[in-house]
Amino acid sequence: MDLMYVTQLLLASLAGLSVGSFLNVVSDRIPAGQSLVSPPSHCPSCETRIRSVDLIPLVSYLVLRGRCRACAATIPIRTLWVEFATGVIFALLWVKFGWSYQGVAMMAYTGLFLAVFIIDLEHHIIPNKVILVGLVASLAIASFWPGVGPVKALIGAGAGFGILLALYLIPGFVIGEGDVKLAAVVGAATGFPIVAVGLGLSFVMGGVVAMLLIITRRSRRKAEIPFGPFIAASAMITLVWGDSILAWYLAQFAILR
Ligand SMILES: [Zn+2]
Repeated sequence: MDLMYVTQLLLASLAGLSVGSFLNVVSDRIPAGQSLVSPPSHCPSCETRIRSVDLIPLVSYLVLRGRCRACAATIPIRTLWVEFATGVIFALLWVKFGWSYQGVAMMAYTGLFLAVFIIDLEHHIIPNKVILVGLVASLAIASFWPGVGPVKALIGAGAGFGILLALYLIPGFVIGEGDVKLAAVVGAATGFPIVAVGLGLSFVMGGVVAMLLIITRRSRRKAEIPFGPFIAASAMITLVWGDSILAWYLAQFAILR
């Protein structure tokens, strides 16, 4: 491992930590209908403006031991894991893609889908603002993505929306309106026909986790578990390995024949 490699890996991690820090702001303010830029970061308990020395991703949380410097109110642990996770994901993406178009685009997708993941997990909603920004960004990125392009992106968005809308209309099938709209974003990002992998995977993951939660009696009904986080996680996995997953899946049928 040479110095250049380590430096760039560190740079990708730092970019991830900063984006993670911003995602915490997004996840706090968008569901509350607040502006992202003003007022500057402040403690939600005592309203004290947070000094810039206390806004360093990861480090500040650990130095302050998860408490506000002014009033000692608890800072949610989510602040820490979101920063950490974004840093790690950015580092892994850089290792796989480098600073290529796909690498940087995947970092943008990470921001989008992590925001959906956190907000839906905490509030059981996917804000229209996030959906709209996500749809426009995904269509733009996918237009230059190898093997996708603007036509497949548009068809993918329509297909994703259509598939989940059909499921949404089935009585007793528990998915929300936000999930239907999110499927359009995933379809735009992955394109057609890979969107089928993304949505299929989300049902597999959602089903497994729902079963585990019901078995361990943490949740009684399916409706208590938001589906958006599964769609968001599947979208990320599909964007990286979608082609391989589709090839593997189709190969299973070839063996059966
Ligand atoms: Zn405070």
